[in-house]
Amino acid sequence: MTTLMTEKTLQEEVRGLAAARDAVILAHNYQVPEVQDVADYVGDSLGLSREAAATDAEAIVFCGVHFMAETAKILSPEKTVLIPDLDAGCSLAASITADQLRDWKAKHPGALVVSYVNTTAEVKAESDYCCTSGNAQAVIEAIPEEREILFLPDMFLGMWLERVTGRKLTIWLGECHVHAGIRPADIERWQAEAPDAELLVHPECGCASQCMAFANGRTHIISPGKMVDFARRSTKERFLVATETGIIHRLKKEAPGKRFEAVSERAICRYMKMITLEKLRDSLREWKYEVTVEPEIAERARGAIDRMIALG
Ligand code: SF4
Repeated sequence: MTTLMTEKTLQEEVRGLAAARDAVILAHNYQVPEVQDVADYVGDSLGLSREAAATDAEAIVFCGVHFMAETAKILSPEKTVLIPDLDAGCSLAASITADQLRDWKAKHPGALVVSYVNTTAEVKAESDYCCTSGNAQAVIEAIPEEREILFLPDMFLGMWLERVTGRKLTIWLGECHVHAGIRPADIERWQAEAPDAELLVHPECGCASQCMAFANGRTHIISPGKMVDFARRSTKERFLVATETGIIHRLKKEAPGKRFEAVSERAICRYMKMITLEKLRDSLREWKYEVTVEPEIAERARGAIDRMIALG
């Protein structure tokens, strides 16, 4: 009871501060439920990028990880962008640096670089296109067949893209430790235990390519944003979800009355969970922590991000 009261009080405080300071709160699907509930908009990387580009607010408080706040800053350079905890990083984004990408490009002259949005601003500045899991297939298919494509940094998403597009990609061997940890054995167990359920799998998962072999009509390899649309429209009642467990809260809210279960309860991103209501309140109250991107880097990264949004 006391905890619920504290949470409600904090949420009211956050809303009051956001209104007073003309700040919009954007929260990623993997945020803790109490942060999702206080946000103006909850979504995946592509949806949040669109909101960041479109907002009229003076400031954006980004409840997500650092590269997402950087993307918001690149899209809205005139706005103040805050992140409630500067340590909210991403192991996938950290798997390639701009120097490593420059070396890789030098070994593949003429190739086009497609970077998943989970990259630093410096890496985006070295890229031709950005993509999210929601539009990665469309981005690859928009590139002429004869061009070599360097795809980074997620190898599982890259392998899945090779299978759905029939294109050969040159893939960086990075991975997200959360999604890579969802293994084929987790899926097989659930397939057996829940024969009535639809299976929703994020293409970053370590099992995604193998899941394509399940030609059973109830396995769907889709982005978190598309999972929400799918669950809303589906006539089915039960869903198994293979991605970070934070999405379950949003799915339950947006498709009420249906049953959602995580394929792996271990699929928790500790970086996403660094953002708490208290830190969000402090961020608004003390106007911290401001995220900045060097203008020259931002200008070069912007082209790749604009192409991602255009192909969304
Ligand atoms: S879930 Fe994986 S890709 Fe997403 S922020 Fe966490 S470490 Fe990065």
